[in-house]
Amino acid sequence: MNPLIEKAALKPYNLTHGEIVSLLALEDTAELFSAAYELKCRHVGKIVSLRGLIEFSNQCSKNCYYCGIRRGNTLVERYHLSEDDVVRMARWSCEQGYGSVVLQSGELESEANTAFVERVLKRIREFGGDEFGVTLSLGEQTEEVYRRWFEAGAHRYLLRIESSVPELYARLHPADHSHARRTECLRVLKNLGYQTGSGVMSGLPGQTLDDLAHDIEFYHAMDLDMIGMGPYIPHAETPLGKDIEFTPEYARNQLVLALKMIAVARLYLHDVNIAATTALQALDERGREQGLLAGANVMMPNVTDTEYRQNYRLYENKPCLDENSAKCRNCLKWRVLSIGETINWGRRGDSPHCRAKSAER
Ligand code: SAH
Ligand code: SF4
Repeated sequence: MNPLIEKAALKPYNLTHGEIVSLLALEDTAELFSAAYELKCRHVGKIVSLRGLIEFSNQCSKNCYYCGIRRGNTLVERYHLSEDDVVRMARWSCEQGYGSVVLQSGELESEANTAFVERVLKRIREFGGDEFGVTLSLGEQTEEVYRRWFEAGAHRYLLRIESSVPELYARLHPADHSHARRTECLRVLKNLGYQTGSGVMSGLPGQTLDDLAHDIEFYHAMDLDMIGMGPYIPHAETPLGKDIEFTPEYARNQLVLALKMIAVARLYLHDVNIAATTALQALDERGREQGLLAGANVMMPNVTDTEYRQNYRLYENKPCLDENSAKCRNCLKWRVLSIGETINWGRRGDSPHCRAKSAER
């Protein structure tokens, strides 16, 4: 076996920066993926945890250059679900045995939205109890807002750093979007007691393997519990995506790089939760299964009502847009079974990393 893979599998954080770059540069990925998969099985078993994804609003005050629902895209029809609808989708996920939900939206910093999320969280707690997991993915907020949501019942938060390299981050965002603030938000979330997740897009224009190795080291430096990474996928109505040609070769390269990031993150971090994100499936019909076989252990089936999905298009080619949630459940079940894994029905599926940390305390 490649000695670097062997070394990484021995114990966590056992690679230098240059060694992480070398693994990301490997041409022959079979050994890398199977070692990462084996390590995942060692830490969590042959089991996949689910989070029902509720995309409750596409309204966003930000203008990230890569994102299809950025404020500047006037072609998008904006929506915001009602409190009853979000609670209904969360209840459905709970009844289906998903074990947890993720509430995601564009970034909205207003008292009306804060109070809305707070009410939804309290209602989810009423039927879900402590055993039902609730993750938020609602962007940058003040400490006070994060605290209110934590007290109302959220216990995980996903905030991708997008790139841990400030210079690259600056090229992907308008000047008033701050890398320092985003990093600070991650610190605040951790201090408040959230299980905290972050991640990046891989394959961004101008991004190097050195940048990606830095991202993996950042996950360790921030002591994250969950990693949600995915390939960058161009969207024609965005400044970053408008001139990129989405050829089959481009899709293939983006997929392989994203899978390598999953595998190397698993080999470096060992015991965190890593998601096989939907964007993988935008590149290949079996992209998410490949993500699981490269070391991921979480999937996020969409549970948003079909009529809204068309308008939550962060990138092009987004799968499952015309499917309903029941169909997604079945499809996912078969996808997981087809690779010999089972689903962690009805369980929150906390990462072994955060369980280890609470045992230390
Ligand atoms: N507004 C929140 C959550 C919704 S966006 C936030 O930004 O944190 C969720 C994620 O979608 C972002 O973190 C980004 O990494 C991803 N995303 C946006 N545009 C994308 C694209 N073109 N390709 C792949 N992922 C994209
Ligand atoms: Fe808004 Fe998030 Fe998209 Fe940025 S990535 S434009 S914050 S929804």
